[in-house]
Amino acid sequence: MNLTNNNINHYQEPTLILPIKVPFQNKLDENQVKVSRTSLTTLQINMGKLCNQACTHCHVEAGRDRKEIMTAEVVERILFLLGENPEIKIVDITGGAPEMCPSFKALVKGCRNLGKEIIDRCNLTVLFEKDQETTPQFLVENNVRIIASLPCYLEENVDTQRGKGAHKKSIQALKMLNRMGYGKAGTGLILNLVYNPLGAFLPPDQKTLEEAYKTRLKEDLDIEFNQLFTITNMPIKRFARLLEINNELSSYMKTLSDNFNKNAAVNVMCKDLISIGWDGQIYDCDFNQMLEIPVNGKKRTIFDIQNFNETFGCIAFSNHCYGCTAGAGSSCTGALAA
Ligand code: SF4
Ligand code: SF4
Repeated sequence: MNLTNNNINHYQEPTLILPIKVPFQNKLDENQVKVSRTSLTTLQINMGKLCNQACTHCHVEAGRDRKEIMTAEVVERILFLLGENPEIKIVDITGGAPEMCPSFKALVKGCRNLGKEIIDRCNLTVLFEKDQETTPQFLVENNVRIIASLPCYLEENVDTQRGKGAHKKSIQALKMLNRMGYGKAGTGLILNLVYNPLGAFLPPDQKTLEEAYKTRLKEDLDIEFNQLFTITNMPIKRFARLLEINNELSSYMKTLSDNFNKNAAVNVMCKDLISIGWDGQIYDCDFNQMLEIPVNGKKRTIFDIQNFNETFGCIAFSNHCYGCTAGAGSSCTGALAA
């Protein structure tokens, strides 16, 4: 059975126990990898599950029918805490489609006033949604970096994963962003793209794929961008269910664990990042957030702490973490190890 964008939101979640021989923590111990959070450079904020798309690999299980969305009160508290933590340099805003959250612009402006580097994880097609007419110019004015998903430069592949028509709209959006200066040398407006595999396999070499993307997009469509990030599909939520339905979950977990890379494991992004949910809950990363595995093993929100440093300590690793350490490794900013 194929999981399509039409039935994906209505599929019943099975009990998911990842089939794996060596638990991830044992693998770390065997390889003498000790990773904990002792500093913070990045705050990742998930503004909610509302999205104009419903992609087959989405670990957030986002869609148009999702109601979970960040309130102005949560945004205000985040900005207060960011003021207490000047060592956090990067604010990485994600969703769903974060631009659809009514508090998105207040969060961006507040972070800008605090001198943070701001990332918007933009799915591109959202820029053509109703009420988003001013968003591109707003992103330019606030020098927001854009990280945009484009799982392939071929139309058929993008539409299979992200829904019919997604490729055409994504290309339109990239052309518009280029015209505004994004991805162009000398403008300071950064446009990075994300590739993730279309199935149960690891991404190819990031540098080689970036060169192919740059050539194809420039020659075929006159589109430019700064960097390409390759991201491994995590064996959780929608993608895990898709694997399970297709009887590929065990073999995918074997691929991930067989390709465990110590050099990636010592660099996992949760070392110096924490993730905030739409309701203010604190997590080690966006994946743990979706699995509701709280930071430091106890449920806490941003209203329970006075400083983000209170989240220092052990990271709640589990078997899905093999997705971050396989091959060249994977993080929200791409490969972790050469
Ligand atoms: S655009 Fe992103 S958040 Fe929205 S459904 Fe696709 S993967 Fe999920
Ligand atoms: S899934 Fe999250 S907690 Fe696990 S290694 Fe990756 S970033 Fe860290």
